[in-house]
Amino acid sequence: MEARKRIALVAHDEMKPKLIAWASTHQETLKKHELYGTGTTGGLLISEVGLDVIRFKSGPLGGDLEMGNLIVNDGLDIMIFFWDPMTAQPHDVDVKALLRISAVHNIPIACNEASADFFITSHLFNTPYNPALPDYTQHINRRP
Ligand code: PGA
Repeated sequence: MEARKRIALVAHDEMKPKLIAWASTHQETLKKHELYGTGTTGGLLISEVGLDVIRFKSGPLGGDLEMGNLIVNDGLDIMIFFWDPMTAQPHDVDVKALLRISAVHNIPIACNEASADFFITSHLFNTPYNPALPDYTQHINRRP
């Protein structure tokens, strides 16, 4: 990862106010990075916080899967995803897929405000970092 990170910002509806408030607090730091967002979250970050965000489709319409595609193709470094632990989501399987593929590719995921605070105050947030690339050869070779 370069010093300038490619960062995904996503929040479920009930969590959007928290993410917008968090992003407002840290906007000067966030502005130094390349930001991606699902449709509605990205739109709010643009209109409410004034950040420059590359937007995907809304989460329930495939935005989470587009984010996953970015990860699969080495296009994302960090994910800040305030997912809602108290509300059922129509696109729950897409959320699960995004979280799984993030784990597969060793993407750091901040799932709430406290973890996002730890991320953004880490010196690694603004400096180059080389995460270990998991070796999945064994799993691939298992196929007939
Ligand atoms: P949204 O999608 O930003 O378009 O609301 C987020 C999500 O629900 O995954």
